[in-house]
Amino acid sequence: MASERDEAAEQEAAMPGGRAAHDGEMEPLKAGEPLRFRVVSRDARSRARAGLLLTPHGLVRTPVFMPVGTHATVKAVGPDDLEAIGASVVLSNTYHLLLRPGPELVARFGGLHGFMRWPGPILTDSGGFQVFSLGKLREVTDAKVTFRSHLDGAEVVMTPESVMHTEALLGADIILPLDECLPYPCAPEAGKAATERTHRWAERALAARERPGEQALFGIPQGSMDAALRAESARFTGSLPFDGFSIGGLSVGEPKPLMWTMLEATIPELPDGKPRHLLGVGSPDDLLEGIERGVDMFDCVLPTRTARTGGLYTASGRLNIRSAPFREERGPVDPTCDCYTCRTFSAGYLHHLIRAEDDESRGELLYYRLASIHNLRFLIRLVEGARAAIIAGTFPEYKAAFLAGFTPPDREAEERKRQRPRG
Ligand SMILES: [Zn+2]
Repeated sequence: MASERDEAAEQEAAMPGGRAAHDGEMEPLKAGEPLRFRVVSRDARSRARAGLLLTPHGLVRTPVFMPVGTHATVKAVGPDDLEAIGASVVLSNTYHLLLRPGPELVARFGGLHGFMRWPGPILTDSGGFQVFSLGKLREVTDAKVTFRSHLDGAEVVMTPESVMHTEALLGADIILPLDECLPYPCAPEAGKAATERTHRWAERALAARERPGEQALFGIPQGSMDAALRAESARFTGSLPFDGFSIGGLSVGEPKPLMWTMLEATIPELPDGKPRHLLGVGSPDDLLEGIERGVDMFDCVLPTRTARTGGLYTASGRLNIRSAPFREERGPVDPTCDCYTCRTFSAGYLHHLIRAEDDESRGELLYYRLASIHNLRFLIRLVEGARAAIIAGTFPEYKAAFLAGFTPPDREAEERKRQRPRG
């Protein structure tokens, strides 16, 4: 353990491009202080707020959208691309890295920072969500979760303590404790039992953290789809000495209005001075809805996954670059976008790349990089704009103006359904 960490420190010190611990807006972190958060501006007409979040690997301006790098890579883009699109923090998945390549190996490469060569802040989730959705679950008790790997069927055991150990080896700036995430819908008794178990696991995770002076630990309030239970979970989790909070168990298939009601039951019960992260939410309209309700941090695989299937965001909604009208389009995907893809290439070229399919590939590989860069930049720019609007006192107008122009994909689908003749 100790030697792995020493190696990690050496690897990281040798890494070029490491970011300064502060950039003048905040004093550097003190020894043993893993994170500092300050609200710098509040919207007078909603819960939206702008903040500064300082981690050992750099400063994050909130609200922030965090690209997801499941296997220690944001699919199809490199760290230089991430810097260029203005990403300030990335998320990686403990569950996937635990199974492959294993946290001990990652530690020998300098932890996640040295392994994936991303010099900025990293957040690792706990794996709870993936265990309960991907792993072939065998047994959950208070003591442990036993499941079968989705890769090879091998039996894997996770405990609140083992997850803290895995995340200490991975070495992210912000780590999350094991939680029990239930699907939607679930029986009320099951939701209550899972929430109470998550609370017990939260206390065990706090007692088991291995690098408290270097890694911030966020608590995970749950509460299923019960507003009273949500509030109770937020109060309980909020009373524990966590450095911030990652709101869990939402965006698991429930209707949007229900998700917002549950978020509204959660946020007011959390300590105001600590950062709030909403796990797994990241469509353009949802980001603004979440910011309005007081969320500081978002992560989602949606922008890169959507990009790979041909769905590209524009100010008016999501377009399908595979469709015939783009064949001859000489302008960029989105004329208002400042990303490398839109500054350099035509929509017609992207259309060609994704349709260049043969036996060996589903579209040219360059397409995946260019499309991912565009969608990530679109969301990061949207959230940067929201932050500027909060500071300028114009967030409600900013949100209204964006939503007036943007048709969310689910609304598009509903409209198509309505227009389709029945019978
Ligand atoms: Zn673009």
